[in-house]
Amino acid sequence: MNCMAIEQRGEVILVDCGVTFDDRGLGVDVVHPDFTALDSFGSRIAGIIVTHGHEDHIGALPYILRRHDVPVWAPPYALGLIRERLGEHEVLAHARLHATKPRTPFTVGSFGIEPIRVTHSIADATALAITTDAGTIIHSGDFKFDDAPPDGETFDVERLSQLGDEGVTLLMSDSTNIDAEGPTGNEIDVGHVLEGMIENAPAAVVVAMFASNIHRLRLLGDIARRTKRKIVLLGRGVGTHARVARNTGYLPWPDDLVWPDRQARELPRSRVLAVATGSQGEANAALAKLARGEHPALDLGPGDRIILSARTIPGNEPGVHALLGQLIRRGCDVRTRLSDRGVHVSGHAHRPEQRRMIELVRPKCFVPVHGTIHHLTRHGELAKDAGVEQVCVIENGRIAEVTTEGVVRGPSVPTGRVHVFAGRAIPPAVLREREVLAEEGFASCAVTLDGAGSVADVSLVTRGVVDEVEYPEEIQAARAAVRHAIADLDAFADDARVAEQARLAVRRAFFKSRGKKPMTVVHVRRSS
Ligand SMILES: [Zn+2]
Ligand SMILES: [Zn+2]
Repeated sequence: MNCMAIEQRGEVILVDCGVTFDDRGLGVDVVHPDFTALDSFGSRIAGIIVTHGHEDHIGALPYILRRHDVPVWAPPYALGLIRERLGEHEVLAHARLHATKPRTPFTVGSFGIEPIRVTHSIADATALAITTDAGTIIHSGDFKFDDAPPDGETFDVERLSQLGDEGVTLLMSDSTNIDAEGPTGNEIDVGHVLEGMIENAPAAVVVAMFASNIHRLRLLGDIARRTKRKIVLLGRGVGTHARVARNTGYLPWPDDLVWPDRQARELPRSRVLAVATGSQGEANAALAKLARGEHPALDLGPGDRIILSARTIPGNEPGVHALLGQLIRRGCDVRTRLSDRGVHVSGHAHRPEQRRMIELVRPKCFVPVHGTIHHLTRHGELAKDAGVEQVCVIENGRIAEVTTEGVVRGPSVPTGRVHVFAGRAIPPAVLREREVLAEEGFASCAVTLDGAGSVADVSLVTRGVVDEVEYPEEIQAARAAVRHAIADLDAFADDARVAEQARLAVRRAFFKSRGKKPMTVVHVRRSS
């Protein structure tokens, strides 16, 4: 959910505007930053500059552009993805979009911006050199040092080093892999490993990976040609990325390389090289459908090889293992990083390459970005160790004040998360209710009072609390507790007091029997 605001002379630019995901199963599509702190700038938001096309850097653009009509600059591949996304949200028509190019500076308000080519797990990634009143700021974007990127667009080490010679006030750099030692590894080596596994496969091969990794898609295209297979794209994400990459020249695939997924069954199995979404075990993605035998394009069985060419994001392991288990039961030959090292490399610099970035730029000040407080703190320590004078670790909402003299921590501004479903924000109270429902369950209680204010009837229905058929006595006990609680009230108690008394009684009863306090709704009726 990357979104960095840089302010000078009362105006603001944003670097990236991304989303994150909520995997608690509460019906949330995406989560974007709360933009309230930017509202006071209004028309003084001069623009948004995007470093690359990953969701955690572009996904929130539709939401901010609905609120603030500001121009956006992005590299062409990211811009292709942004257009798709804005089109889905019907904000494309009025959007002002500009393509950026490495080593081609432009101005946004009082800021000078120069994109610099970096390598990453998506094509067309950039760092930014930003000219400000306090000197040059470099924002690394997401990066690693890949010496031989498949698209030939090499990391512009020379330009960063030049800027370092001229003097850089502040470096903000990607902290993701601060805990990883050793070399990050090149994408082309993943290609070699995959090729070995694909050329000796007897039947269909499915490679599950992040759809945005255009480098890897490109390598798979080359491998398909050499091994006389056809590429079959399974899943919406790979379809979108392949289309945008082909339109922007990042995927020079001839038309006859890609086989239409709907006709995949017509192809001999030994000629299928499928690329599937869903490497994180997502239930609705292509890989999960293949594992369940529900994919309309392809059935997998003995002899077919599945290669999980991705890292499993912490937290997703149980889902991924369950899915791989389903594939193994189908008789598939399942390969992962654990069986075959080298089927995946990270797109983020490991520690030694993070150090190389700092040593290239040689900034006066350092602010680590893109990571938890743990990652940021360790990255800050690395910068100090590499000789940076001033290091400032800030978390979301905290301001760092930068002058030519240095950097200090400033005040905080309000920040937070906005949870979205179907393009609309889910109110925090509603989300909280969903959490309670999932944790505690639900009870509905109807209390009927007679003319004298005595309890005539109590009915009670629960969901997600107790098996009512197996344990009727618990329901009886809760109903009795409601009767008792209301009997304690005086005869003049109004409906609201009766309802509250009943609600507390239901919750107490189930807390006693089940350790749960279900969300309880009470209706009070008076019979005359
Ligand atoms: Zn990225
Ligand atoms: Zn990122």
